[in-house]
Amino acid sequence: MFDDLRDLYQEVILDHGRKPRNFRRLEDADRSARGDNPMCGDRLELYLKLAPDGSIADAAFQGRGCAISTASASLMTETVKGKSAGQAHALAERFRELAMTGTCPDCGTDLAEEMERLQPLSGVHEFPSRVKCATLAWHTLNAALEGAKEASSE
Ligand code: ZN
Repeated sequence: MFDDLRDLYQEVILDHGRKPRNFRRLEDADRSARGDNPMCGDRLELYLKLAPDGSIADAAFQGRGCAISTASASLMTETVKGKSAGQAHALAERFRELAMTGTCPDCGTDLAEEMERLQPLSGVHEFPSRVKCATLAWHTLNAALEGAKEASSE
């Protein structure tokens, strides 16, 4: 069972790495931020379109990076659409926990469904040098929401 799950997670990462969702420039973006992970050479530009109430109406990204960083950005943009800034920050915080430890004690509460979709990346905690690849998109999301232009994994 565990191996099946591992294979499934692997498949999700490869699929999103090869065919990233929301991989485009948003011409009418309200916010954008650049993310840089010099450790691996991952770079991305994130675009957000905000609704009048401040929630995320649309999210898209462009850039170049390893399969993990691309898959993470792809899953992130899918997951945060329709979320308030507060929910997006909460997801970023929980995802960081998930990527670093492989578990997320708070994930059983609200946003559980969203965290479930991000589970395929939980395996990176076994590879400390890849954690930054997985969290780069989320650092960049936080930066964009806070109105900053740059985010670094450092
Ligand atoms: Zn990387």
